[in-house]
Amino acid sequence: MTTLTGIAASPGIGIGPVHLVESHEADVNDGVLQPEAVAGEQERFRAAIAACRESVRKLRDTIALETGEEHARIFDTQIAILQDPEAMEQTLAAIATERRSAGYCYRRILTAVASRLEEADDEYYRERALDVRDVKRRVLAHLSGVTPRGLRDLTVPSLIVAADLPPSEMALAPRDKILGFATDLGGRTSHTAIMARARGIPAVVGLKEATEAARQGAVGLVDGTRGVVVFDPDEEVLEDHRRKQRRFEEVDATRAALKDQRCVTHDGVVVRLGANLEIPEELPGIQDHGADGIGLYRTEFFYLSRQTLPTEDAQYNAYRSVVESMAPKPVVIRTLDVGGDKFASYLGTPEERNPFLGLRGIRFSLQREDLFRTQLRAILRAAAFGNVNIMFPMVLGLEDFRRAKVIVAEVEAALRNEGVAIPDHVPLGAMVETPSSVFAIDLLAREVDFVSIGTNDLIQYTLAVDRGNEAIAEIYEPLHPAVLRAIHAVVNAGKQHGIRVGICGEMAGEPLYAVLLLGLGLKDFSLSPYLIPEIKTILRACDSAEAASLAEECLALGTPADVREQVTEFMHRRFPEHFLA
Ligand code: PEP
Ligand code: MG
Repeated sequence: MTTLTGIAASPGIGIGPVHLVESHEADVNDGVLQPEAVAGEQERFRAAIAACRESVRKLRDTIALETGEEHARIFDTQIAILQDPEAMEQTLAAIATERRSAGYCYRRILTAVASRLEEADDEYYRERALDVRDVKRRVLAHLSGVTPRGLRDLTVPSLIVAADLPPSEMALAPRDKILGFATDLGGRTSHTAIMARARGIPAVVGLKEATEAARQGAVGLVDGTRGVVVFDPDEEVLEDHRRKQRRFEEVDATRAALKDQRCVTHDGVVVRLGANLEIPEELPGIQDHGADGIGLYRTEFFYLSRQTLPTEDAQYNAYRSVVESMAPKPVVIRTLDVGGDKFASYLGTPEERNPFLGLRGIRFSLQREDLFRTQLRAILRAAAFGNVNIMFPMVLGLEDFRRAKVIVAEVEAALRNEGVAIPDHVPLGAMVETPSSVFAIDLLAREVDFVSIGTNDLIQYTLAVDRGNEAIAEIYEPLHPAVLRAIHAVVNAGKQHGIRVGICGEMAGEPLYAVLLLGLGLKDFSLSPYLIPEIKTILRACDSAEAASLAEECLALGTPADVREQVTEFMHRRFPEHFLA
């Protein structure tokens, strides 16, 4: 039995067989072959190529059925690489002349091809290098007897163990086959963790050694509420977690009964609990948990879960389905926030040394106005079917907000000219997630219709702590006095200028912080829908005056540890059933 502790990234308990995601190339035999082994090795190579071709064909068929021919086509490139006569002949010749293994020769030949492609000026050829590397990984894995298994290929419900997973992989993973998720890397607010929470998958991240400790197919358990992962658990531990799992489900079921009750404090203060949404597939979960609208629709996942640019109509249909099914409740659609840890090679997002300080959020949209205008057209068209607000990510201040606003006005005018029905006014807001937007909030608040505090990035940029770096996860502290002061300043500016101030980072879904955030003056939360019942139970049982005095006490404290102690002591005393059971 091996027990590992990491960062609790998404609540719930998953128990089942481990599916280890191989991220490295399989090892190859680099010894010299006996002359009599050459023919057999050549045959083994031909068979490996044929088998890989067959498995890529199957994958292609599945994708064609699930998401259409358009997506399936990308696998034609891989089939073509597998059929490439030059690579085939060169490998067969190298096996014979150098008397080295098929894996050794094929790896060298395809690595050279990929390197040449990477140096090409043309983006298209550079992109093909990725396909070549993927094919190489497949063939080497086949030759070494290890089957590379993408999450799409899962046939039995499993616990996913990986070094790290790109958010797009998480978006494509079949929900019914994923029991839980454990990674070596990542922090609570990495986008992969956010996806897990959004999709209700128990997850623990930042485990450092999960991939080393896990064995393919062995039994494992992920306790995403407590941040614990156990491989090969003994009977006692297994039974204990099965009990916890049942309790989690029972509690969740009773809380779902809360869904039609409003979130109102004892003294009558109404708090709006909206949901964060990544993909339209999450809508039923959002409705079941009683969200008061969508406070943050992260549209980038629509772009990340595909391999080609979505058309205006494809986007319009996706947005419209969300807007229509939530109407008349509000939906805040955030424009594309790629960059940082969210890449899509077809979008041409550059490789950067400091991606979180690079071309991300509204900066990308202002540079790629063509994409931005298409997205705005789709959003504005969908806005005719409900209550839509548009929000821009990574706004630094008035300049980028104004530029975006001008483009919205132009797109609106063009749509009206074409006779397309759109609302008279769609409110425009800014994410407050950079220190710059906090310092300049008095300026921004005069021109925006609303703001939403993105604490995931605000904490990262205020404290200069990478949100996804598990080695420094301890100093990524939401309760740092600087963060509390930033939130307080934004709330005050909002009051002064009469604009709505929401909060949509992960902090909004943390039960321990709920009363403090209310006390700081926030009444508009947006969070993972699965956390709404618990936050609602807590806020309904509290009084705005006690929340305000907790916030006042915390704002007077000097260190994050002091604030944490104060908040923990308060919450344990007031809500023992939530924190001490
Ligand atoms: C945030 O930064 O808090 C936020 C909500 O945006 P994202 O997590 O998508 O960067
Ligand atoms: Mg952000």
